[in-house]
Amino acid sequence: MPVDAPRWKVSLHGGHSREYCDHASSTLREMLEAAVEAGYHTFGVTEHAPRVEARFLYPNEIAMGWDVPKLLADFERYAQTLPTLAEEFADRLIVLRGFEIEVVPADSYVSLMQDYRRRYAFEYIVGSVHYVREISIDGSAEDFQTAIDTCGGIEPLAVSYYQTVAEMVTALRPEVVAHLDLIKLHGRHFGLQETDTVRRAAEEALEAVRATRGIVEVNTAGYRKGLGEPYPAPWLVQLAQRMGVGFCLGDDSHRVEQVGFGIEQAREYLLQQGVRALTVLTREGNNLCRQEVPLE
Ligand SMILES: [Zn+2]
Ligand SMILES: [Zn+2]
Repeated sequence: MPVDAPRWKVSLHGGHSREYCDHASSTLREMLEAAVEAGYHTFGVTEHAPRVEARFLYPNEIAMGWDVPKLLADFERYAQTLPTLAEEFADRLIVLRGFEIEVVPADSYVSLMQDYRRRYAFEYIVGSVHYVREISIDGSAEDFQTAIDTCGGIEPLAVSYYQTVAEMVTALRPEVVAHLDLIKLHGRHFGLQETDTVRRAAEEALEAVRATRGIVEVNTAGYRKGLGEPYPAPWLVQLAQRMGVGFCLGDDSHRVEQVGFGIEQAREYLLQQGVRALTVLTREGNNLCRQEVPLE
């Protein structure tokens, strides 16, 4: 069993590594060493699912000469390497095996993601929406502007974003729902406001999370991206709490310096909102289990 770490110290989203991800910069082994160092009880590794069409390659990937077959091969290698490493670290850290989904291509992502999950026997998935109508909303500001133009404004884009979250959650039933208000990353520079219409759409997304027993991730990347708060914002934490939806933490780490970053702050953040317990995934024996653990 791992050393005595507080039971709330669990990250269910992160551990991206440079062997399998163009925008990560440490190896997976280094990430796990950092997770031990950070004092985690349980660390969920959730590499990005591959994007299966060339039009979704990132500019950086294209510049490096990467293509779809490489992404697919990297993901397979990830899925095959992770169990061995998890086993190797088992006496120091509980390592969970997951991946972070994509909602592209829009017409086939559901079966693609279900297939990855089954084929590689992942223990859980992280549900994320990085695209609206197949346009990236957390990449460049230019892409974000295109998404606004395509939807007819920032408010319709935000509504469309939350509708995509709701559909994804209902279709894939992810255990963890990541960075629920990711739309604010660029949206705050494009006049995004929490109008009644936006709030209603967000509430419907949360209703889908509640109905599928999903856990809302409090994602500390918001701190390092200069948002002054994690994802999701206080109004969404309040809403989720009123609806009886549980919370977990995620550091969304892509390099060793980000492992554990902002986790104590996120704990304080939740306590300030009156959240007294987390809903975590961990492993006991050979079984993945879901537990309520006190934050204090
Ligand atoms: Zn990433
Ligand atoms: Zn993400």
